[in-house]
Amino acid sequence: MSLRFEPFYEEYLKKLAAYSFAQALIYTDQATVAPKKGVPFSSDQMSILGQEEFKLANDPEMVAKIEEYQKRLPEGSLERKEVDMRVNDLAHTKNVPADVYGGFIQARNKAGYIWHEAKEKNDYELFKPYLKDLMSRSIEFMKYSPKYNGNNLYDVFLDAYEPEMTEAKYDAFFDVIKEELVPFIARVQKEGRPINDSMMSKTFDVKRQEQFMNTIMDYLQVDRDRVALGTTEHPFTNFLSHNDMRITTHYYPDRFLSAILSTVHEYGHALYGLQMDEQFEGTALNTNVGSGAHESQSRFLENHIGRSRAFWQANYDELIRQFPEFKDVSLDELVDQINVSRPGLIRTEADELTYPLHILIRYEIEKDMAEGKIDYDKLPEIWADKYEQYLGVRPHTYSEGVLQDVHWSDGYLGYFPTYALGSAYAAQLYRQMEKEIDVEEALRTGHMETITGWLKENVHHYAGSMTMAEIVEKVSGEPFDPHYYTDYLKEKYSKLYALDEQ
Ligand SMILES: [Zn+2]
Repeated sequence: MSLRFEPFYEEYLKKLAAYSFAQALIYTDQATVAPKKGVPFSSDQMSILGQEEFKLANDPEMVAKIEEYQKRLPEGSLERKEVDMRVNDLAHTKNVPADVYGGFIQARNKAGYIWHEAKEKNDYELFKPYLKDLMSRSIEFMKYSPKYNGNNLYDVFLDAYEPEMTEAKYDAFFDVIKEELVPFIARVQKEGRPINDSMMSKTFDVKRQEQFMNTIMDYLQVDRDRVALGTTEHPFTNFLSHNDMRITTHYYPDRFLSAILSTVHEYGHALYGLQMDEQFEGTALNTNVGSGAHESQSRFLENHIGRSRAFWQANYDELIRQFPEFKDVSLDELVDQINVSRPGLIRTEADELTYPLHILIRYEIEKDMAEGKIDYDKLPEIWADKYEQYLGVRPHTYSEGVLQDVHWSDGYLGYFPTYALGSAYAAQLYRQMEKEIDVEEALRTGHMETITGWLKENVHHYAGSMTMAEIVEKVSGEPFDPHYYTDYLKEKYSKLYALDEQ
């Protein structure tokens, strides 16, 4: 099976792919090994390539030709689906007046730059006018999307990051998260047994951590001919091509687990790309995969594999051999330490249980932002109040409060909720996988291919030809239900914290 497009369109896709490949390569190079002084030059090259790509993609004659082509393609075919996606994106750009678009891009660059400074200086007032301006421009820009029907603008933002998601669907989702997890997390804190996780903050030489990472990557059966690992300030995955995934991690001397879980998480993204049907390469069916879909795969690996007892059982002997400091920590104690839950202020450092509440908080706030209802003067207070209400902690600086994340300074409304949604998709997929294969046995005995094979067959190969909600429903035989996620968390953490059944 392979996608067949008319030659003019094939060529259009290939040229666009070349431009985006070159830019992604420069981006990866800058973030990993490029010497600092070379960055201004390579940034200029990237920006020229970006402009050329934009011109090529949005050339009016070409766009008209594609719109004609769209009508010739049979409804329901994958080719039609691909072209529909592209025409939608192109229509958005076509509809936006040049000054609105230019103003949005400028505001975004400015806000991104100022955000760094504001976070470093713990100065919300510095950032506030830029954030306010960017959000109003972002809202204005989004109104030109062909998907905006004059009703709910936040729906348009949400759909951009996870196709077909709406505010109504997310409201229902987060209602479950709030109802099930807020009281449960409070209970864990109050009634849970104490767990000493001192090994997790012990200092280990980065060189040794890197060596152990090789052990973990071998265990995961990472194909080094198709995946390269680098180190960056913030871990990411870049999909250069079907056979070229760049993942990165970050080593902290005093946070042994961080680099491992980051690598496992990013490998989850990469694996998804590696196992997509190759026919989708270079098409919107590959590149338009939702962020929620993607997070479902990275979090599947991170949470259901990387934090599991079976995973650590398989790697325990090697851990003790390379890190004799762990020799007095039993396997059970190790797994307990890895899964400790402690409500905190920083999203990226959150444990598996409290993580979705960090997202809930951002979701509630950005809903009001998208509707232009938020009071930016009070934003830090609104943020702090929600942390206190949901997690029982209150930030005392802006940097560990409302300024901590980069997303809003990029104008990304609607991105955050995909993180929690992805975790929930992962939980339902895992429940089904457990019914079909012995996951623990596969992990204990080092047969990662059993798990990745299942993911390929049931999830990955579809790429963006189906939404993750459709895939979850197809795989599990029932619609997506967030209770699989909350039940999984409550079961896992009740056991870990020895809570009585209630
Ligand atoms: Zn991710």
